[in-house]
Amino acid sequence: MAEHDVDFFVIGGGSGGVRAARIAAGHGARVALAENYRLGGTCVVRGCVPKKLYAYASRFADDFADAAGFGWSVPQATFSWPTLVAAKEREVSRLSDIYHTNLVKSGVEIHACRASVVGPNLVRLSTGGQVTAKHILIATGSRPEQHPEIPGIDRSISSNEIFDLPVFPKRLLAIGSGYIALEFASVFARLGSAVTVVFRSDEILRGFDGDMRDGLTGALKEAGVVLRPRTLPTRIEPVADGLRVHLDDGTAVDVDQVLAATGRAPASRGLGLEEVGVKLDRFGAIEVDRFSTSTVPSIHAVGDVTNRVNLTPVAIREGHLLADMLFGGRDRAMNHDNVASAVFTTPEIGTVGLTEEEARVRFDLVDVYKTSFRPMKAVLSGRAERTVMKIVVDGVTDRVLGVHILGHDAGEMIQLVGIAMHVGATKTQFDETIAVHPTAAEELVTMRTRTARYAKGAGPGV
Ligand code: NDP
Repeated sequence: MAEHDVDFFVIGGGSGGVRAARIAAGHGARVALAENYRLGGTCVVRGCVPKKLYAYASRFADDFADAAGFGWSVPQATFSWPTLVAAKEREVSRLSDIYHTNLVKSGVEIHACRASVVGPNLVRLSTGGQVTAKHILIATGSRPEQHPEIPGIDRSISSNEIFDLPVFPKRLLAIGSGYIALEFASVFARLGSAVTVVFRSDEILRGFDGDMRDGLTGALKEAGVVLRPRTLPTRIEPVADGLRVHLDDGTAVDVDQVLAATGRAPASRGLGLEEVGVKLDRFGAIEVDRFSTSTVPSIHAVGDVTNRVNLTPVAIREGHLLADMLFGGRDRAMNHDNVASAVFTTPEIGTVGLTEEEARVRFDLVDVYKTSFRPMKAVLSGRAERTVMKIVVDGVTDRVLGVHILGHDAGEMIQLVGIAMHVGATKTQFDETIAVHPTAAEELVTMRTRTARYAKGAGPGV
């Protein structure tokens, strides 16, 4: 008789947990998974997937406006929020069902309940009962944090609620200038909302390359988004037709909804982790080694709950490698370098590797190749839009350190640049690659002229 009820108990049915469960089952492990909400996790149910669908929906506004420049006359277009919400819901349900089917097909036993850890090898289910497991995986993700702590902040919504608002918000105020605030600002401005974004810093998107931040600032303003840097709310109060947001510069804005998009926190509380010796850091993230094992050898964690690189594909890879290590006899540590990612604003930002600012701190000599141009489509449509591309290069070894793109389909482009970065491509190899014409992406292999060279600690020289 087996020593434990299962070999692997996974808590959390999001991207990381589901991948780990299926791979482990594929290696012959007996696997159980607990999820108390909908299978698919934040990404599928109330994150990446619905967000991308809403971004697509919003971009029709630009297409209708641009069509005239190409000879089309388009009748006055109207938008139905309930139709979009219902269409989104159908797709999310379809995907969630696929997650369920795939888990079942893999032989994973699914528990539709909460689970917590009561021992290094023991899990308690909220429906009653306990399961012993050789290994336990915590893949519970993260949840929105709503800041600042001001009177009325509880009247704000998070990204969890915004997808399913019963009434379309004609006036929206977003707090924060990270991924979520700006992606929704971009979406709702195009769907017809008057959008204001308030944030504490001087510039949007902390940590991104300066030229991407500047370029997106211009694009958001062009789309009608009101950006208010160095401004935060002090109070949110209900008024007859919505909410009044008092700001720290003494002004106030009346809106229908306030979106607090001020970061996410690891969902590690209430799971019994610290009680069994799992160490959490000061943000509540589970501390793990390069193989995703916690301070308790039988308890592991992947994805946002570990607060490493908080992106779906990273959680998936962490889960996969862990399952391979535990049950497939393959020990491969997770590599978090050069993870490409995108911000799904309009236009998008695609980014991989170091920003110019980071490279200049770390490398003795940094070469920058940059171009900014009006995309072909915008010429006929008359849109004042710029695409910005930048390649950051180690001036000593010629290795490409980072690539940053602001423009349409930047997310698609950066995925492929990510392969070149992964294999350590040099700028010369980029240059040797023959262009695909006419595309925007061809600029990535035709930027021959260096725009700046920086020696560590010195100003620019060319
Ligand atoms: P971000 O960390 O991207 O941005 C948080 C924003 O909130 C920043 O503007 C930050 O300001 C501000 N903020 C934080 N604390 C406070 C505070 N106490 N008072 C006022 N402002 C505050 O978080 P998001 O919520 O936008 O997204 C969460 C995470 O989800 C992302 O980091 C990312 O990992 C993931 N995500 C990824 C997406 C993608 O890949 N496309 C899309 C959506 C989410 P400051 O800059 O000054 O620190």
